[in-house]
Amino acid sequence: MHRFLSYLIDMIIPPQCAICHAPVSTNFFPACDACISSFVAHDFLFCPQCGNRIITLSSPCHKNAGYILGAATLFSFPAAQTLIHALKYKHEEYASAVIGKILAEYFLRTCPEFISDSCIIVPVPTSKTHLRKRGYNQAERIARAFARNAGLHQSAVRDHLIKKIRTTRSQTECATVRERAENIKDSFAINPNEEIRGKDIIIIDDVHTTGATMRELARILNTHSARKILALVFAKT
Ligand SMILES: [Zn+2]
Ligand SMILES: [Zn+2]
Repeated sequence: MHRFLSYLIDMIIPPQCAICHAPVSTNFFPACDACISSFVAHDFLFCPQCGNRIITLSSPCHKNAGYILGAATLFSFPAAQTLIHALKYKHEEYASAVIGKILAEYFLRTCPEFISDSCIIVPVPTSKTHLRKRGYNQAERIARAFARNAGLHQSAVRDHLIKKIRTTRSQTECATVRERAENIKDSFAINPNEEIRGKDIIIIDDVHTTGATMRELARILNTHSARKILALVFAKT
């Protein structure tokens, strides 16, 4: 962001920590040191199938999982929950600036080799009902902040690449893993104007729980011949 613009925003909106609301120096990264150091940031990737740690992108333990999971931190940290809650339910879009920066630092630490000319960023799509209610797709906000901080161009963010074509129940309302998978099945469609073949795709979301949504997204992207898929989330359960 332009330095003067950033200064102006800080003058108009006094910067506050997105987690504890203590005053901080800038809205550009609105989180205080105490909150940031209250959760551990990972320096490894995960196998989405068994949860094992993976050191590099080229060493998945379950090759048929369809994607590799990157999760910057754990959902069990209260500060991580506060940030996600602020972003989703309290219209505090500033939380996306914090999440996006933490996610970019994690990504550059664990798998910078994922960046290539064929790399695109796909936020997990949301339904029209959710979009109307919240006014924005939180995954898209995270994806934009992530791209900015990871040095990737905003045009790499393709928020119209996949559409949600069927309204599903909230995944948190589903009691079992099987129910979640059933709930999400065939609820997404790829925009026919987009080229997937040979692309390295980073799917962005706030939280990864059972992985039902990611599995379904990876499944359709793989049927369209995506080269590599990295599911990149702020926190995993
Ligand atoms: Zn704080
Ligand atoms: Zn595994």
